[in-house]
Formats: sequence, C-alpha cells, structure tokens
Amino acid sequence: MTFLHGIAASNGIAIAKAYRLVEPDLSFEKMTIEDAAAEVDRFRNAMKKSKSELGAIRDRAKVDLGADKAAIFEAHLLVLTDPELNGPIEDKIQSEKMNAESALKETADMFIMMFEQMDNDYMKERAADIRDVTKRVLAHLLGVQLVNPSMIAEEVIIVAEDLTPSDTAQLNRQFVKGFTTNIGGRTSHSAIMARSMEIPAVVGTKTATEAINNGDLVVVDGLKGEVHINPTPEQVEQYRKVHEDYEAQKAEWAKLVNEATISADNHHVELAANIGTPKDLKGVIENGGEGVGLYRTEFLYMGRDQLPTEEEQFESYKAVLEGMTGKPVVVRTLDIGGDKELPYLDLPKEMNPFLGFRAIRLCLEEQDIFRTQLRALLRASSYGNLKIMFPMIATLDEFRAAKAILEEEKQKLQTEGQKVADKIELGIMVEIPSTAVLADQFAKEVDFFSIGTNDLIQYTMAADRMNQRVSYLYQPYNPSILRLVKMVIDAAHAEGKWAGMCGEMAGDETAVPILLGLGLDEFSMSATSILRARSLIKNLKKSDMEMLAQKALNMQTTTQVVDAVNSAITRN
Ligand code: PEP
Ligand code: MG
Repeated sequence: MTFLHGIAASNGIAIAKAYRLVEPDLSFEKMTIEDAAAEVDRFRNAMKKSKSELGAIRDRAKVDLGADKAAIFEAHLLVLTDPELNGPIEDKIQSEKMNAESALKETADMFIMMFEQMDNDYMKERAADIRDVTKRVLAHLLGVQLVNPSMIAEEVIIVAEDLTPSDTAQLNRQFVKGFTTNIGGRTSHSAIMARSMEIPAVVGTKTATEAINNGDLVVVDGLKGEVHINPTPEQVEQYRKVHEDYEAQKAEWAKLVNEATISADNHHVELAANIGTPKDLKGVIENGGEGVGLYRTEFLYMGRDQLPTEEEQFESYKAVLEGMTGKPVVVRTLDIGGDKELPYLDLPKEMNPFLGFRAIRLCLEEQDIFRTQLRALLRASSYGNLKIMFPMIATLDEFRAAKAILEEEKQKLQTEGQKVADKIELGIMVEIPSTAVLADQFAKEVDFFSIGTNDLIQYTMAADRMNQRVSYLYQPYNPSILRLVKMVIDAAHAEGKWAGMCGEMAGDETAVPILLGLGLDEFSMSATSILRARSLIKNLKKSDMEMLAQKALNMQTTTQVVDAVNSAITRN
C-alpha cells in the first residue's frame, strides 16, 4: 500500500525516513543449551552492548534534559553492573544449562517480586529499574532494537500506534519532522501539540504501523490528511512544490503579525493563543497573539515523577505573565485525566476516563494539589494580566466550591503580607452540556466563559474525541453545537461579560465566520493558526456573518452548514 488516509491533525508537508516508535517483540522459548561457556559469553556480550547504549543515552539525557532526568539512567547502569544480579544469571546458565534469555528473565523476575513486596517506595522503584534493564539486555540477546526516541539524531517521521501527550512533549523538534499514528483524532492532545510545535501530522490512519517499515521514505501530508509511503522522486518533487506554496502563503499571512484583528466592517475581536508551557510564548509572539486564551497547566505536571512545587509553578506562571507584557493570560487550573495521565498520582484505572475523576473533580477532592497551584497563581498575579479559569465545570456548586478555595488562599497570602493583584478575572471552561444549557445562571457569577469545544462536542455528540471510528460524529458545525455556543455567548453578553472559545473550533476556517457572526469576543487557538484566522476575519463583514450564523442555526445537518459557509466566503 502506498497511500494511507487519516485525519489531518497538523498542517504542512514533511518528507523524511520513517522511525517506528513500536515496541519490538521480546518473546522467546525456554531452552536447554549445550555449550554453557558460549552462552555465558553471549550473555556478557549483550550486557556489554546494553551498557554502552545506556551510557550514551545517559550522556544525551544530561545535555537535553538535565542531570535530574539523566539520574534514572545512572540507576539503570548500576543495576546492569550489579554482581548480585549478574552472578545468579551466569550460575543458572552454567548449572542448569538454561539459555541466557530464560536465565535472565527468571532471575530478574525473582528480584522484581522481592522488591515489589517491600514496604518501601525506594525499593519498589528499584523493581522498575530492573524491569527496564532486563528489557534492554533481552533485546540485545534477541537481536532486536528497543525504541528510543531521545536518541534520534537524524530527520525522521515518527510512526506509532498512538502518541501520548508526554511522548509528544519529548519529541525533539530538530529531528522529528512529522508523525503519523494509527489512532487519535484532531483534538487528541498529541494532535494539538503537533500544531503548536508546527510538526505536520496525520493521525487515525488505522494501519500506519503495519504498512510502514523503518527507513521507508514517508511523506506526511498534513494538509490533506494523507501519508504517502515510498513515493517516486517525481512525486517527492511535487510535494516539495506544495510545501513551498504553503510556506509562501504563510509568508503572506505573516505580514499581519502586528495588526489588530478587525473585520471588514470594523468589529474588533481578540485572537489569542493556546499554550502548554512557557516555551510556547515565542510562537505566540511570532504569530501576533493578542493574549494567551488558554494555558494548559497540566503539562507542568507531566514528564516528571512528582508534583511540581509551589515555587516551580510560580516561576512558570510569572514567566508567562511577564512574557506577555500586560496582555491577557488565561490560566486554566489543572485538567488532568482523560488522555492526560500523571502516573505518580497512582489513580485507579477507570472504564471511561473522559467521564471520570478528572480536572476540577480531582482538584476539589485532592485539595492540597489545588491549593498549591492557586497559591502559585495568586503570587504570580502581580506580574501581568492574569485571569484564572476552572476546567470541566458541570454545576454551579463546583464553581462556587472552587472559587471559595481560591478566596481562602488569597486571604491567607494577604495575611502573610504577599502581594496579590487587586482584580483577577475568574471564569470557567464550558465543556459540559449542562453548563452550556445553564449558562444564563453561571453568567451571573463568573467573569467570563471560555468554550472548550474539544470536550463540548464529544459530550454533546457522545463521540470519543480520540476514536477515529466515531470521528464522523465529531461535528463542530452541527447546528446542535452551534446552538449551544450561541446560548453561552448570549448568556455572557446579557450579563455584560465576555465569551471566548479555546477549543480547536476557534481556529477552524469553516467555523470562524459563524463564530464571528454569533458574537464571540475572543478566539483562542494554536499560535500557528492565528495569522490565517486574522487574514480571514479582515475580509469578512460581521453583519454578513450574523445572517450566515442565523441561517446555520436553523439548518438540519453539518453538510448544509459547511456548504453555506463555503458559498458565503472566499478563502485565501
Ligand atoms: C477543550 O476541551 O476544548 C479544551 C480546550 O480543553 P482540552 O483540549 O485540554 O481538553
Ligand atoms: Mg477540555
């Protein structure tokens, strides 16, 4: 097969060799061997290779991730050279004439079980180290390669079953030119991150890992949602041309970087950016973001093995507020759960993680975590224009409880003599239909709404945002969604409040004209979508879009809405 079709998750064209991020098969048979001395040699050889590999990984991690993160590989090297582990393995090979794979596995399993049963966290972690090291030695014995994205040192396209947000965060932008996955949707967090990293991506291809071999030349066409395997040189040339045209188009949009976003009939809206870390600010500024409309703070908590301290958080929030030099920054409190896991919190596996114990539900229960974050935010508030919002609010009671905790922490800080900004706007994400329906009541108590359509659509249509088999139901332009969005915007305006949107729909070319017509005040999107959206809005009249929106609200299907938008606007 030369073409795979999937979901266009991040724009652009990437051409490079495939790197399969797929765990190899480490299965083997238990066997009796003839020549024990040769088998011990084979084992020692695998150990030697593992040692030099781990040494290289450690050195690389020190440079890329810092000594802290590299310490884990130091621990692995210690296990590898520990005679208490190696001795019994070699004994087993010699005395029981067992093949090296079985001797390694049986000995390691015994130690793992022993450590796991100890009532001591430090020892339990050693079990994990032994498990990791065993895997590496086993791979060398079997002659297969373990995947190791941190060691990629040439331009590649990552091919994977799925990428978690923390896998994505660790991708080295210098070498990873694009990625394609079997599963995932446009609003899975790996897709969202690919957009902010400007890495072309096609997700939900179903068969990428089957169809693509390591080293195949692969084109990821993130504009069309296609993956081309081993194209001819002529085809590669054509893709290069598409890439150049796209770059030229981007250069045109870039001319709008310092302009305000004003429609053809003089209506101003704010185009803000969604960020995951302070590092993303560079992209916000380069792309002319008028603010940060969503700072997903959960990424501060990921890719590490313990909660970030109040001080660490304070530094990150302060950096973002200062970096935005007085422009609005909407920080969302911790939204963990769904596809964003924190292994160190040790939460039980759930049947329906997107409907489970997540975001504000977890924060109201695990108040230490919540209070630490709120204190860090309040302390940072005097360094810029901070607005705080709570994720996944389903009821007014939840909002009131979260607000009360915020007030308590504010009081405490003020009593301690710490500086806190006088006015911090407090809002909520509208991601749950109950909240959209009751928006008129919420609007009396919140300062603003930010509509989280990524979740609002999945909950309204009952279609998992990660599941490509039901992606046909994931319909941002369905009149049912448009009506909910209208209810929220109207409710905010009736109380003199503002309404923004930070779901991916806010940067969607087909949705933007309707949202302008519905009166949305703030559009928050991947930074890389801002200039295109600005160019689009400058050519639209709000009054025309109001009529278009009115028509769309009374339509029956998504297709009708898309057709109506296409005939109402000219795209560039
Ligand atoms: C949303 O649900 O629209 C949203 C912006 O939040 P997240 O994508 O992080 O769930
Ligand atoms: Mg959400």
